[in-house]
Amino acid sequence: MIPTALRGVPQEVSTGVLPGWDRVEQLVQEAHDRYRDDDSGTVADYIPVLGAADPTLFGLAVVDAAGGVHDAGDALHLFSIQSISKMFVYALAIQAHGHERVRDIVGVNNTGLAFNSVMALELNGGHPMNPMVNAGAIATTALMPGETPAEKWECIREGLSAFAGRSLIMDGEVYRSEMQTNERNQALGRLLSSYERLEGDSDAIVDVYTRQCALNVTAHDLAVMGATLADGGVNPVTGERVVSAEVCRDTLAVVAASGLYERSGEWLFEIGIPAKSGVAGGIVAVSPGKGAAGAFSPRLDSAGNSVRSQLAIGYLSRALGLNLFASAPRVAVTAEGRS
Ligand code: GLN
Repeated sequence: MIPTALRGVPQEVSTGVLPGWDRVEQLVQEAHDRYRDDDSGTVADYIPVLGAADPTLFGLAVVDAAGGVHDAGDALHLFSIQSISKMFVYALAIQAHGHERVRDIVGVNNTGLAFNSVMALELNGGHPMNPMVNAGAIATTALMPGETPAEKWECIREGLSAFAGRSLIMDGEVYRSEMQTNERNQALGRLLSSYERLEGDSDAIVDVYTRQCALNVTAHDLAVMGATLADGGVNPVTGERVVSAEVCRDTLAVVAASGLYERSGEWLFEIGIPAKSGVAGGIVAVSPGKGAAGAFSPRLDSAGNSVRSQLAIGYLSRALGLNLFASAPRVAVTAEGRS
């Protein structure tokens, strides 16, 4: 109903820019210093190899929509992208199939339940609800162009590499470790098939999904990938168009609603920007038109979101003016009213 009524109405864009390069650089270093000693949370170990991560690692990066880059701490340390892959694969799926088809098949509403919930699928007649939980992400991976799972995988690897501006490589150890313990994702895949919401061999699709989660990135890469979504789909570092501006808007709306799972409302309330987390400790946050922050630190809260990454991005959201909901009166107000 709303999409049909709005068809043809031109999309004006959110405006505003980040402060100058020196100020952003200073704030990124400050955000890193401020939270580097916070040791709350625990490292994920349900994927065995992730349990061996060094919990002291902490990287932070900001890339602005003009391609300016800021790195702090372990910003170039490689880790597996995990669930953050979901938002970029979703963008590629909308690019391939269009807004309406993907919305109908995968959905855009928050489940209010954990990222790997089987109950969420059962409660909704097998509809995955949104692409940021595992069921919806597996359904989205199935939509990727390609006749075979191998072709779909290559399409994902190339697409995410274009977002990052460099060729991303899968971490074989992480992939094998997750394949040995991903019965739950296989169950979600089979449940989707049983509801006729997944075409093809569900185990093969879950294999591709597991590979996409094992792609190695850095906090710096995440910031470049996010900045591409902040820059109307053009990678601001390489200049390559990766997806359309409409795809960026659609993707960020879904990320705002569900990127931090059942904590998404709380995150929007406190921090106010679309962000997506991964269980290896990464988070990317995107401020449309301005830029993106990428962060990495392995200790997680109980919903599976990196503690230090949330804190550092929260600080930057305030200090850099990233919060989408914050404003101040345009015209100064005096005791007599507007001057
Ligand atoms: N590969 C992980 C899984 O499917 C991703 C989860 C996450 O990062 N939250 O469980």
